[in-house]
Amino acid sequence: MRKLWLAAGIVLLLVMGTVLLTGCGRKEPVQKTVMVMDTVVTLTAVGEKADAAVRESIVRLQEIDGMASLHGENSDLKKLADAAGNGAWIPLHPEVFHMLEVSQEYSRISDGAWDVTAGPLVELWGIGTDKAKVPTETELAQAKAKTGWQKLELDPETKCARLREPGMSLDLGGIAKGFAADEVRKIYEQYGIRDGLINLGASSIYALGKNTKGGSWRVGIRHPRSEDKESRLGVVELSNAALSTSGDYERFFEQAGVRYHHILDPRTGRPANSGAVSDTIVVDGSLPDAGMISDLLTTAVFVLGPEEGKAFLGKLPTEVRGMICDRRLQLRTAHGFDEMLQQVQQDFSLAE
Ligand code: ADP
Ligand code: MG
Repeated sequence: MRKLWLAAGIVLLLVMGTVLLTGCGRKEPVQKTVMVMDTVVTLTAVGEKADAAVRESIVRLQEIDGMASLHGENSDLKKLADAAGNGAWIPLHPEVFHMLEVSQEYSRISDGAWDVTAGPLVELWGIGTDKAKVPTETELAQAKAKTGWQKLELDPETKCARLREPGMSLDLGGIAKGFAADEVRKIYEQYGIRDGLINLGASSIYALGKNTKGGSWRVGIRHPRSEDKESRLGVVELSNAALSTSGDYERFFEQAGVRYHHILDPRTGRPANSGAVSDTIVVDGSLPDAGMISDLLTTAVFVLGPEEGKAFLGKLPTEVRGMICDRRLQLRTAHGFDEMLQQVQQDFSLAE
């Protein structure tokens, strides 16, 4: 009889253990890393349908890549550039149209610090390519004449766009990854994924719910002046929010001791010389387009620089938090970013 009780007890314990593991315990995350949009993308998802969600997301990223780059048959940007100046309206994918609508709004409020018509300047400098060079003054003036966000026209009725002058072209390099992060988040939602991390390089990270251990996701922010790529400025805990970082260390070349990097000031046509070396923006997931906005804002705020960038952020909704690191490694923050920042490395201090 005692043996029977013992056996029943063991069975009960086993059943309880299984219930705990499958019912209350956390499922194994699905994680995939792919190279898309010129970036190492890592998608992590937890949930019954995580595998399908991640697979569909990768297909979606490849689609966005096709739409948002200047090359490829399906490229709206190529069609727009080819028709620039001839007056024709070009029908756009609704996704591209949406990116441009949001983009124009931020060009307006940043007074042109953010400008997707910087295409000819991006092309001229070629930073990050093997054709990178310092252009002549004439080349700069010519390229600058082909830029200007007011010369990009959008028609919300027909979702068409046109570029007013010949030689104009768009560059979505500072916004497309953020948009893509938003799209992956929507796919995760459709598949009932509440916990996950969408990582499109430092440029765009979207954290959903909890990490695989049940805590907030912890995202390290790179030290902008350390040779060691693993060295951190600090760490931010993130849940249901998008985070982007831009810096002059990402893509640059040096000539005669000057660093020429990939964040251009549309007003001068040159790499922004604003005093910022990196900036990080966190946008709460309650705001629509959180990923896209965090991505484009890092570029805009970098161009504006530490002081102006901080003032600019201060005027945005409080769901937008940000930090700018200057050349002396002093940090300026907006809307309580300093409270989110942990494990600040000793090289950095908060500006007065
Ligand atoms: P990444 O994360 O790929 O390094 P960022 O988010 O930092 O990119 O944005 C920089 C990219 O945005 C540049 O490579 C260029 O394509 C584009 N860009 C550069 N300057 C501007 C600007 N002032 N406005 C809009 N886009 C810009
Ligand atoms: Mg950006």
